[in-house]
Amino acid sequence: MKTITPSLATLLFCTSALAITPGTQWGYSGEKGPENWATLTPEFNTCAGENQSPVNLQGFVEAELKPLTVDYKAGASEVANNGHTVQVAYKPGSSLTLDGETFQLIQFHFHMPSENHIKGQSYPLEGHLVHADENGKLAVVAVMFKEGQQNAVLADLWNTPPTGGTKQPVAQQVNIRNMLPADLDYYRFNGSLTTPPCSEGVRWLVLKQPIVASSAQIQALTEAVGHANNRPLQPVNARIILQ
Ligand SMILES: [Zn+2]
Repeated sequence: MKTITPSLATLLFCTSALAITPGTQWGYSGEKGPENWATLTPEFNTCAGENQSPVNLQGFVEAELKPLTVDYKAGASEVANNGHTVQVAYKPGSSLTLDGETFQLIQFHFHMPSENHIKGQSYPLEGHLVHADENGKLAVVAVMFKEGQQNAVLADLWNTPPTGGTKQPVAQQVNIRNMLPADLDYYRFNGSLTTPPCSEGVRWLVLKQPIVASSAQIQALTEAVGHANNRPLQPVNARIILQ
């Protein structure tokens, strides 16, 4: 048996479908909002850390970034609305190779509007593909959506995304590779989970090329969650953003 480290355990615990658990509650506005996450409970203290996400990606440092190597198979299994986001669980067997390590795709979910900005620009929707290696280290591939034509993969995932506290099977088999742009050029930086407990040491890979979804699809996701679910931009501090 592999040991699941706290970061992965916490991630699965906090974001798993319908985990209506007695953990500390947090939200996106008011007293439980992002400005106060770090002090809601000692477990969230990292939310005041120096290497937090999201960020405005700019001031890039040129690097010889290796092409993103993904091996994604059809594996979207279940869609859940946990009150913070709409999240799609992914069956084991799809992976990302990064820094000579293999990270398994666990789930992907959505933020409306985008959390990261690219050169000062916000997007109406951002998808996060969350991967973990066998030690629980995380890598997130982020993809921005512009408003445009209907997104065929989103249309395959649901007719209507689930409402708060509910889950549903995916409508049709989906390989998430089909949602991503052909060109996987990316920016890279070191960051954190964008939700409590804001754990750091997350490898962020933000795809340069946006994809499209219709305004109705973006609106449906926003209505399903019921509020904006983007954490405000965090200071870059001493980090560099590679391209
Ligand atoms: Zn996210």
